[in-house]
Amino acid sequence: MIRKTRLFTPGPTPLLPAAQFAMAAADIHHRTPEFRALYQKVLAQLKVFVGTQNDVLLLSCSGTGAMEASVSNLTSPGDRVLVLTAGKFGERWADLTKAFGCAVDVVEVPYGQTFDLADVKKALKADTKAIYMQASETSTAVNHDVQAVAKLRDEVAPEALLVVDGITGLGTTHFDVDGWGIDVLIGGSQKAVMIPPGLAYLSVSERAFKAMDSSKNPRYYFDLRKERKNAVKGESAYTPAVALIAGLGAALDYIAGQAGGDLEKGRIALVNNAIINAAATRAGLVALGFTLFAPTSPSSAATAVAVPEGMDSSDVVKALKTRFAAVIANGQGTMKGKIFRVAHLGFFDYLDTIALLGAMEHIAKDTLKLPVEYGQAVAAAQKVYAEAYSK
Ligand SMILES: *Cc1c(COP(=O)(O)O)cnc(C)c1O
Repeated sequence: MIRKTRLFTPGPTPLLPAAQFAMAAADIHHRTPEFRALYQKVLAQLKVFVGTQNDVLLLSCSGTGAMEASVSNLTSPGDRVLVLTAGKFGERWADLTKAFGCAVDVVEVPYGQTFDLADVKKALKADTKAIYMQASETSTAVNHDVQAVAKLRDEVAPEALLVVDGITGLGTTHFDVDGWGIDVLIGGSQKAVMIPPGLAYLSVSERAFKAMDSSKNPRYYFDLRKERKNAVKGESAYTPAVALIAGLGAALDYIAGQAGGDLEKGRIALVNNAIINAAATRAGLVALGFTLFAPTSPSSAATAVAVPEGMDSSDVVKALKTRFAAVIANGQGTMKGKIFRVAHLGFFDYLDTIALLGAMEHIAKDTLKLPVEYGQAVAAAQKVYAEAYSK
């Protein structure tokens, strides 16, 4: 039998064919009217996709570049910041803020959990300059309550900037960026927007731009004020990733096309798609005997499950790849071998979910020797879909 390679990883995610064609055809110079028109169109679309009146900037780098920019541009050495960490990406915020000399307060919870809001409240100080957190912690597939943290910020430390890594939160979670007062919200190209790695985008509030006037940390390539000034003219400060930007435009057109050309509605449909596929996947995998790694606050970007005691999740990852050419993600760091992760963000639909769960039934039965009835996982997922569909 032949096999089709399918990515079920939470970045990179499957590529949208229309975006691939747009990238292949993107033979344009970046200091021309053609590029300026493309850039301005994509920046305007990104505002709708993020759901904000704030400016959205594009950077040619992976998501971590935008994370670094939101530390270097907003802080000075010695500034007190609060980092909320519950996994590998939260740890990245701690490393980054320390690298730029911040005085870092940390609220940390074990892998698989989200924060106790009372702990966050206690850790917030009147002089906290900024809060750094994830919306979705991809390493553990946990969702964090950004709205609740924003509210605490308003009560306890209203001056503090709220910086959210939404790299897998965007396109899988509903945000009210301006209503909640998210000062920076970061996305990445290889996640929900269906194109390859290499672009980061971030919405930046006026408050955050104002903070840049007095922040002292060094920055050069990732100078957000410089990018903003250039974006007004339809340009980027340096040579941009032109092909990726063309692909991003095509992907945002596709998302709008899912709702009759209305990008805001298309974004809502994309988020709901992730929410339903995640719920269906959780039901299917639990029906097979796996345990949810994040039962209390699961992310819609990806689902993480633990394999039964004494089994190795690497065997599941390997077997899916060799038998079905389906690529899922192992656990990162100490979670390797204990959990596996299946993505729902971006160009995944319900049929992808059903296919993966059908394949997973074979692997659970043949590789892990679990007592599987064919159809068990698929049926559990179908029930979730049917209920959502009937509403
Ligand atoms: C993918 C991801 C990142 C960014 O990683 P890069 O490899 O720099 O693109 C950051 N945070 C989260 C939550 C992610 O999922």
